[in-house]
Amino acid sequence: MRCIGLIGGMSWESSALYYQLLNEGVKERLGGLHSARCVLASVDFAEIEAMQSEGRWDDAGRLLADTARGLQAAGADAVLICTNTMHKVADQVADAITLPLLHLADVVADAVVAAGVDTVALLGTRFTMEESFYSDRLRSRGLTVLTPQADDRALVDRVIYTELVLGQVSEESRAAYVEIIGRLAAHGARGVILGCTEIELLVRPTDVDLPTFPTTRLHAQAAVDFALA
Ligand code: GLU
Repeated sequence: MRCIGLIGGMSWESSALYYQLLNEGVKERLGGLHSARCVLASVDFAEIEAMQSEGRWDDAGRLLADTARGLQAAGADAVLICTNTMHKVADQVADAITLPLLHLADVVADAVVAAGVDTVALLGTRFTMEESFYSDRLRSRGLTVLTPQADDRALVDRVIYTELVLGQVSEESRAAYVEIIGRLAAHGARGVILGCTEIELLVRPTDVDLPTFPTTRLHAQAAVDFALA
């Protein structure tokens, strides 16, 4: 089994889910007492969030690149950045190592294309929804990407940073997300990317009529496939 390197802590609420899903995935495939070989390097999210909101992306890229080097030195065979948003610095991380980086947008694009969905809604942080680093990667696979209108984007972002990364899951926020997804469906979305690794803690597949693409689950599945290939 190959060893998976995880850059986590962004937030640890979703990193915990990555760890669980990796182990469940390996157990399901190999049975018995098998569990995932992995190395987790977990950063302090307060530092990362400050870099994000102050626009210090080079500093953030350097920090994650150093973390990736540490994972390589610790024996990882591939690296995952366990957040959609920080894929903004994915190139800096990939350049720091000789291992493959399992890029989350590629994994998600594969799943959306495989499901036969061509127009997909994208929910995530304001960086993921409003900048091009993530959606362009989806568009390069022929997908049409819809994001919420401005006030809906603000709500989605606020719930991530003030509730979900703190482990708070509220019915009110779930209902608000479901309404927003409904509006995107009315604009032609045929599926929705839960493009922040904590959103799947809030929105369950049964909450919405559209197929959901939960990024933590899909990324962890891709890591299990890599580990056992
Ligand atoms: N986990 C979130 C994501 O997937 C947000 C936290 C962050 O800003 O990295 O984008």
